[in-house]
Amino acid sequence: MKVHKGDTVLIISGKDRGRRGKILKAFPKQERVVVEGMNLRKKHIKARRGGEKGQIIELAAPIHVSNVKYICSKCGKPSRMGYKTTENKKYRVCKKCGQET
Ligand SMILES: [Zn+2]
Repeated sequence: MKVHKGDTVLIISGKDRGRRGKILKAFPKQERVVVEGMNLRKKHIKARRGGEKGQIIELAAPIHVSNVKYICSKCGKPSRMGYKTTENKKYRVCKKCGQET
C-alpha cells in the first residue's frame, strides 16, 4: 500500500467524498484504512448491568484504499506517489512536487 498510518488523505468516493482526514489505522492485507472521522458507523452498546444505559457511539469503519487519495505533506495537493531508491534507502516521492514525503 502506498499510504500509511499518519498520512493525510482525501476521500474520493462515498458520502464523505471531498473531505480530508488522517489515517488512524492501516490494514495492508485487506488494503483498507481507517480515516479519522470518516465512514462513521453507529454502534450500539448494550447495557452491561441493570441501571446502566445502553449507548450508541460512532466509530470510523475501514475503507478501501482505492477510495482515498494521498495528500502530499509537502505541497498539500492530492498526488500520486512514486518510489525512488538509492543505494541503501527506498523512499516515497510526490509526483507533483518531486519531494520526499
Ligand atoms: Zn508534493
